[in-house]
Amino acid sequence: MTEQYRPTKAVIDLGAIKKNLSAFQQKSGKAQVIAVVKADAYGHGVLAVAKTAIESGVTMLAVATPDEALFLRDEGIETELLVMGATPSSFISVAQQRNIIVTAVSLDWLSMAAMHVSPNLNRLNIHLKVDTGMRRIGIQVDEVDEALGFISDHDFAFKGIFTHFATADEEDSSLFLEQVSAMKAVIEKVDDPSVMVHVSNSAAAIMHREIACDAVRVGISLYGIAPSPYVGQEMDFELQPALSLETEIIHVKKVKAGEGLSYGATYRAEQDEWIATLPIGYADGMLRGLQGQEVLVQGRRVPIVGRICMDQCMIRLSEKLPVGEKVQLIGSQGGQRIFIDEWARRLETIPYEIPCILTKRVPRIYSDSTEVADLPFQEPDTMLR
Ligand SMILES: *Cc1c(COP(=O)(O)O)cnc(C)c1O
Repeated sequence: MTEQYRPTKAVIDLGAIKKNLSAFQQKSGKAQVIAVVKADAYGHGVLAVAKTAIESGVTMLAVATPDEALFLRDEGIETELLVMGATPSSFISVAQQRNIIVTAVSLDWLSMAAMHVSPNLNRLNIHLKVDTGMRRIGIQVDEVDEALGFISDHDFAFKGIFTHFATADEEDSSLFLEQVSAMKAVIEKVDDPSVMVHVSNSAAAIMHREIACDAVRVGISLYGIAPSPYVGQEMDFELQPALSLETEIIHVKKVKAGEGLSYGATYRAEQDEWIATLPIGYADGMLRGLQGQEVLVQGRRVPIVGRICMDQCMIRLSEKLPVGEKVQLIGSQGGQRIFIDEWARRLETIPYEIPCILTKRVPRIYSDSTEVADLPFQEPDTMLR
């Protein structure tokens, strides 16, 4: 990577991802873990995450779009790849050439695919998506017989069948249970044991291990983030957040009592205050709605004051600190921690959005907390001293 001169960066702990993955691999019994790496691995950087997952024994990655799958293939990733979203007719022969599994999302899609497969290439690998209640994409439950008939009459490689839950992260399990029982009836129609059945997202993999089937599709919690506060409270193991966001103070000054600062001068100093400027703003994903959010400096919480600008924002210090002082926006410092959930609450959104909105301008830097700690201790063969 080219040199980065601005101190703002997202540090991604690949060791945390390995630990989370291994927790899911352990908890899911014989079900394998499909690592969901769509949307640039939820903003964590898809290539590094994909390689880490593969090193940890993952044999299938899931993405949302054909282009995300092609990117991984172009980067030399040879693992099985599932595109969970709908794919257009123009992608069918590409999927055959590049060995990418596509999702059959409707009866019309199946006819389309049958028309566009190239007989001279390897068969098209498909997973059948069944809509049991999410009402987004997928074959309706009462169309499953027809879909299975169509698949067996055509030359597809039928590799899997799956569904997606709408409310697996909520306390009220009524819709979830309806979806489970609808899917149970669907699975009974598939007699080929080589067809992989997968239903669980992170929330279901955490809260409902009994339905794991052949594989679970783990996205958000691979990155150490609980799908919802409810799941975070109820879960019986720890997730380790992989992403932290840090920068440094680039400017410090005393603002006199009564003076305003930033656009609109909406914030006014109540007394003489030390105000520091940070090189991060809404063009980095530090949205204006985060005004008032705290950051960590010297292990203490201090507030962002005034409006957040495109490239910079201001914080109020309790004393003068030098330019170059480390600032933690997300993550831990001196025993204090700021989780992604805290940003999500302030922005009145879900934690999923937070890593996804960190823009390309924020470099992703990789570390591995397990690299040193997990090396097995080896007895030396001979003792020199
Ligand atoms: C994104 C996605 C997942 C992963 O969900 P998480 O809640 O992030 O674990 C699984 N399946 C489908 C179909 C998805 O779109």
